[in-house]
Amino acid sequence: MPDVILVTGGTGLVGRGIKWVIENEPEGSRFGKRPGETWIFASSSEADLKDPEQTRKLFQKYKPTHVIHLAALVGGLFKNMKYKLTFLRDNNLINDNVLHTSYETGVKKVISCLSTCVFPDKVTYPLDETKIHLGLPHDSNFGYAHAKRMVDVANHAYKDQFGCNFTSAIPTNVFGPYDNYDLEGAHVIPALVHKCYLAKKNGTPFIVGGTGKPLRQFIYSRDLAKLFIWQLREYDDVEPVILSVGEDEEVSIKDVADAIVKAVDFRGEYSFDTTRADGQFRKPATNKKLLSLIGDFEFTPFQKALDESVQWFLQNYDTART
Ligand code: NDP
Repeated sequence: MPDVILVTGGTGLVGRGIKWVIENEPEGSRFGKRPGETWIFASSSEADLKDPEQTRKLFQKYKPTHVIHLAALVGGLFKNMKYKLTFLRDNNLINDNVLHTSYETGVKKVISCLSTCVFPDKVTYPLDETKIHLGLPHDSNFGYAHAKRMVDVANHAYKDQFGCNFTSAIPTNVFGPYDNYDLEGAHVIPALVHKCYLAKKNGTPFIVGGTGKPLRQFIYSRDLAKLFIWQLREYDDVEPVILSVGEDEEVSIKDVADAIVKAVDFRGEYSFDTTRADGQFRKPATNKKLLSLIGDFEFTPFQKALDESVQWFLQNYDTART
């Protein structure tokens, strides 16, 4: 039986990363397309996964044997704080429809995408896969976080009651081509890239909110894509895996801004607005479980990944999500 892999959210940042890897890695290699595989990258225009009937029709059309479930209502801090109920309901509906339709149609394996937002606000660091349910998530995104946590709960319940092979991945902050550069809703890297681009274009200063000191782990969407493909082919356990660079590869927001200035070739005035709040200083997650299972894996150096992302943005400014 040929494998049909349905990627929900296939037109977003992470989905485009997977499509790129499948189309660009050598056929038959560890991360490349394998003979007999068909990959489907679905968007919301093909089926609104909040709707059970549209979800069923999508599954009837492609008859997937495997699902990488990325589709979600995603957003930065501002949107998460303002629309908590929408984030909770939309993501609950999407996840329930995808998991239940996968169960009903006999999908062999589902990998759903969580986020490090699922972890408790008050927790000991580094974050690891055993700490998801040990306390309440941060108040700013509790709608999104609770909906994502429930996927892990559902995966266990589907396994216990029906023996389903459903699991999940927990990426840290993702960036890359096809990111969301909308200044209102974007995550930190795409927001700063867009701001720096506008500062260069308009001859205005590039001002970064906060001190630049907080540290974060960023993963390039094309590296993350390979890790999803690995998990699809080589990992069969219900427990999630954190997909991230190591704790020793944290970068500061200043490092990020410096790399963007370089990639955009911005030569104007550049400063930090220290009157703006910084957020948490660090929230490191360990990738020990991933590395112990995958063996050798080479992450793209941060500056190279950022250069590629910025070049993509500059070349696609007219069609990018701005
Ligand atoms: P994007 O916003 O770039 O893409 C979201 C994708 O989901 C799009 O393909 C979109 O389709 C689809 N989608 C949204 N709503 C629906 C719906 N109602 N029905 C069907 N499809 C829908 O998100 P990312 O690629 O960044 O995120 C992918 C996954 O990774 C998500 O589950 C997210 O929670 C997770 N994640 C992301 C992180 C990040 O830093 N970006 C960090 C950690 C986890 P369309 O293009 O048609 O709108």
